[in-house]
Amino acid sequence: MEVNTVNSAVMPTYTRSDLAFVRGEGAYLYDAEGQHYLDFCSGVAVNALGHAHPHLVHVLKEQAEKLWHCSNLYRIPEQERLAERLVAASFADTAFFCNSGAEAVECALKMARKYHDAVGQPERYRVVVMNNAFHGRTLATVSAGGQEKHTKGFEPLVEGFDRVPFGDLDAARAVIGPQTAAILVEPVQGEGGVRVAPSGYLPGLRALADAHGLLLIFDEVQTGLCRTGCLFAHEWFDVVPDIMALAKGLGGGFPVGCCLATARAAQGMTAGTHASTFGGNPLAMAVGNATLDVLLAEGFLRAIHHTSRLLHAALEEVIHLYPTVLAEVRGLGLLFGLRCIVPNTTFVTALQKAGLLTVAAGDNVVRLLPPLVIGENEIEEALDILDRTCQQLARGHDGVA
Ligand SMILES: *Cc1c(COP(=O)(O)O)cnc(C)c1O
Repeated sequence: MEVNTVNSAVMPTYTRSDLAFVRGEGAYLYDAEGQHYLDFCSGVAVNALGHAHPHLVHVLKEQAEKLWHCSNLYRIPEQERLAERLVAASFADTAFFCNSGAEAVECALKMARKYHDAVGQPERYRVVVMNNAFHGRTLATVSAGGQEKHTKGFEPLVEGFDRVPFGDLDAARAVIGPQTAAILVEPVQGEGGVRVAPSGYLPGLRALADAHGLLLIFDEVQTGLCRTGCLFAHEWFDVVPDIMALAKGLGGGFPVGCCLATARAAQGMTAGTHASTFGGNPLAMAVGNATLDVLLAEGFLRAIHHTSRLLHAALEEVIHLYPTVLAEVRGLGLLFGLRCIVPNTTFVTALQKAGLLTVAAGDNVVRLLPPLVIGENEIEEALDILDRTCQQLARGHDGVA
């Protein structure tokens, strides 16, 4: 059920469900009446380790008694440590910390312009972006995403984005000109409907970037940090970017964003060029490091692969059983999209009533984003709810027909 919270003092920019949770534990959320919900929304891929993960709770409490915030005017050892660990685990040489995905993408876009300025080509500022992309809600990132529902009325937009169809290498090649600075792409489009980059596409963009002296930027705000079964989704495609935006899963629920880059791409980002008051503060960094402790542990990815295979096979079966409700399952790792025949919002609402939380996406898709630590019993429970809900919606369909 969706409500317009007209009596709330909160600015009504969200379409909200009427549910309110008071507690979370593992894969479950509880409302004030004690009713529990299986959480396959995970705060839209944020609660990577589920709710109230003991290690995160412990580290957060410990850090809370020591130091919350002290400004980037000073060295922050926990920040240096998280940067080192992310750099060691990736293509990157350096990390900038912020508080959200949009800020991480914003940093990437600024860095691309600054790079070309630093190498003596300040005329290069344009960025190739994709149809159905999502990069956040700041002015620059809605301009990059370009979806009318996000930009209408906010014009004039930030200038310099050239949009091409996702997956179309020829279109990307055709739009590159003497003012092009970078290519920005999500390896799997999340909000756009869980569209996985076709094979050869990302390596093709890498080759284009190299041939034309452009920077390749991956927005892995949703796909990064093990969500797709690799630490970063681009590992599936055997390609590395020059710059990468991270956020969602990085703090396991605490706001942490990060822009990673090679030393070459970041060469313009010298003292005074960019900053964030809250970015990388000791509390955020302690939680970020605690999240990485779990994500980088031996066997963590293997468990995700196992769960992913289980869930994927079962979802294929559900699709097969209810062709009047669902059309297709797609995705990578534990980022699943169910393309619906019924309206996706109808499906999300029906699942919620039955106790399973999911989230809609573009292309009439419902996303399943379980916590990465989900167990087999919880998968069984989710499948049972999916089956019952499909049955009920299929019956509705037959009744209408
Ligand atoms: C969620 C998301 C963002 C924006 O993150 P915020 O923290 O909401 O600013 C950017 N890019 C992608 C791919 C996302 O999924």
